[in-house]
Amino acid sequence: MARLCPHCGINSRFDRVFPSGSGKNCNDENGFHYIECCQECKGIVYSIWSVDRDAPMYKAVMSHESTYQKEKEDEEATPIEKFSYPFILMNPPITISDSFEKSFIEGVKCLNVGAPFASVVMFRKCLQIIAEDKGATGGTLKGKLGSLSASGILTSTLESISDVIREVGNDGAHPNKFEPSIDDAKDILDFLPLLINQIYILPEKAEKLRVRRTSSIK
Ligand SMILES: [Zn+2]
Repeated sequence: MARLCPHCGINSRFDRVFPSGSGKNCNDENGFHYIECCQECKGIVYSIWSVDRDAPMYKAVMSHESTYQKEKEDEEATPIEKFSYPFILMNPPITISDSFEKSFIEGVKCLNVGAPFASVVMFRKCLQIIAEDKGATGGTLKGKLGSLSASGILTSTLESISDVIREVGNDGAHPNKFEPSIDDAKDILDFLPLLINQIYILPEKAEKLRVRRTSSIK
């Protein structure tokens, strides 16, 4: 099963380092403890996985000292990742400013310690820094995003994504009815790099390709 590597940020597969193939499972009341190695970057990840203790396959796993692979075959006993270290990728995809980098990293840290309110507020701040960096005008963030749509920097899809980052960020900062959960904050963390990719990384990549192409034609 591929999952996001906290070291290289690639959706990678992992090789088991501990327990090794024939080794005994290491499990306690928290679940099964594994040390794994990312196939892409060889980074080491420690994780704890649990399964539904009442599921029939769980008992079979326990008695046969089976590996994670075997647990996976039973849908009822699908292991759930309860803990993983290092945490998800900490660095922002680009550096806009010192404040942006600090806010992004703080948002991820908040997410990792189970503080979604603070996390979405930090991600909203990142959005505001992006908007201002892209020359947005207007007093409120809503107004700034509107100005970026008007100037064509935000497509309707990106405007909708930005708007939800702004709204959920507001929910984290104010006593609103909607209280952002960890999963909501994780969604925002998915949206933010997507936005950055679309308005910074891809246009720059396209421009570099254009320059290479033009210089080879001459
Ligand atoms: Zn990796």
